[in-house]
Amino acid sequence: MKKEIICIECPNGCVLSLEIKDGEIVNLEGNKCDKGKVYAVSEIENPVRVLTTTVMSEGLSVLMVPVKTREPIPKSELLNAMEKIRKIKVKRSVEAGEVIVRNFMGLGVDLVATRSVS
Ligand code: SF4
Repeated sequence: MKKEIICIECPNGCVLSLEIKDGEIVNLEGNKCDKGKVYAVSEIENPVRVLTTTVMSEGLSVLMVPVKTREPIPKSELLNAMEKIRKIKVKRSVEAGEVIVRNFMGLGVDLVATRSVS
């Protein structure tokens, strides 16, 4: 199977042409550096994303508190993560970078506020 993806590791945005066989990359073209190869392998074998979204607040100056996962989480967990996040309510002031949920979903990654809200 052939596939094209765009490397997002730097602003160059190289178009990577992949040939995949049995879930492994057997040929890679288009990367200008080794980071592109690492990115391609990650995208095919274990794609991850930083989840950036908002959670509800209660009694604060804004209705929603912007949050993100401090590290990328598996792409396959994004929908589950959004289900969990829908049930979270922040009821106290938070500082930017403060942990909202430690070890979110047991993934070893914290969910943190990206803005101070009082
Ligand atoms: S392959 Fe290298 S140069 Fe190209 S976008 Fe990725 S990191 Fe940048």
